[in-house]
Amino acid sequence: MPDLPDVQHPLSPATLAVTAGRPPHEPDRPLNEPITMASTYVAGGDREYGRYANPSWTAFEEALGALEGGRCLAFSSGLAAVDTLLDLVGQGGVVVAPRHSYNGTIMQLADLESRGRLKAHLVDVLDTDAVVAACADADLVWMESPTNPALEVVDLPRVIEAAHEAGANVVVDNTFATPLLQQPLALGADVVIHSATKFIAGHSDVVIGALVTRHDELHDVLKARRDLIGNSPGPFEAWLALRGLRTLHVRLERACANAAELVRRLEQHPAVAEVRYPGWGAIVSLVTAGGAPAADVLTHSTSLWVHATSLGGVESTFERRRRWKLEAPTIPDGLVRLSVGIEDVEDLWRDLAQALDRASQVGDGAPAVGSSATMGP
Ligand SMILES: *Cc1c(COP(=O)(O)O)cnc(C)c1O
Repeated sequence: MPDLPDVQHPLSPATLAVTAGRPPHEPDRPLNEPITMASTYVAGGDREYGRYANPSWTAFEEALGALEGGRCLAFSSGLAAVDTLLDLVGQGGVVVAPRHSYNGTIMQLADLESRGRLKAHLVDVLDTDAVVAACADADLVWMESPTNPALEVVDLPRVIEAAHEAGANVVVDNTFATPLLQQPLALGADVVIHSATKFIAGHSDVVIGALVTRHDELHDVLKARRDLIGNSPGPFEAWLALRGLRTLHVRLERACANAAELVRRLEQHPAVAEVRYPGWGAIVSLVTAGGAPAADVLTHSTSLWVHATSLGGVESTFERRRRWKLEAPTIPDGLVRLSVGIEDVEDLWRDLAQALDRASQVGDGAPAVGSSATMGP
């Protein structure tokens, strides 16, 4: 195999997921970049200190960068990456963002706005004309598609064009789609952000984030910020995320097929009032006919489906989103977000169907179960 991809025949994403970010094929080299535990390096090279560089981060960044088509920087979490990007907005700048963005992103925007740092203009992404109009005054356009947990899909080409006409950079949170289902940089976006905690790492055992940009200058500014703040991942976390990414394409293929089949069946079930699914991906939201109480019965009546927040792991999980105090009030009370895993779909359906049968016996009057924490991923 050549060391550099042939530009005439670019490698497919499945091949990149397996091969990018590996050490050179030389005798006695390990096939995988090992975990490097180091706070400092012998002087005279490029690395110098553990806050600036680590070979385990670099391997992960090369692989995710190859898949998204840009230069990648790894962070200690998805929200650390969000914070680093929002920090670049000038004093008093305007950020346009979906009203149903991931609620940690919304909270960061609200926090910065409350301290007079910036202005957040939250939009309904299904109203593309309104989003395009909002872009005219924007300094940064922040998109998430599909949105978490409403599963609305943004018209990215139109929004990106409108933002660039206004001179604003466009960030796309690509956590739900992954670079295998959507490549925002190829559509013209300036930066892609990931909670690699989710599908990229894929095994519910690590918290890690990433940014990918196609602009060298912006990459250097973001890297300088990470150097200064130290919000980079641990070497073990980066190694785990890369190990997970190696199988992203096969995990996603199975999870998406399972999700599509479950959607067909959920749409027929009397306990389900609405199914939200963009037609692709492995996240499905359903709204129970019996509201929050029925949703709570559903999430407490399964043995395979785990009642847990977060998403994108090999195991199927689900939760009622409004159990979090800070979830948007425009998200229905009985909305349950399903993260479909890679188990056997018949086993998943049997478990879900018996829980839905129980949920269908619950009316809308019973009390709902809340969470003591304020927000969930
Ligand atoms: C989870 C999530 C985040 C935050 O990432 P963390 O790794 O939990 O910090 C950001 N965006 C989306 C869409 C998410 O689902």
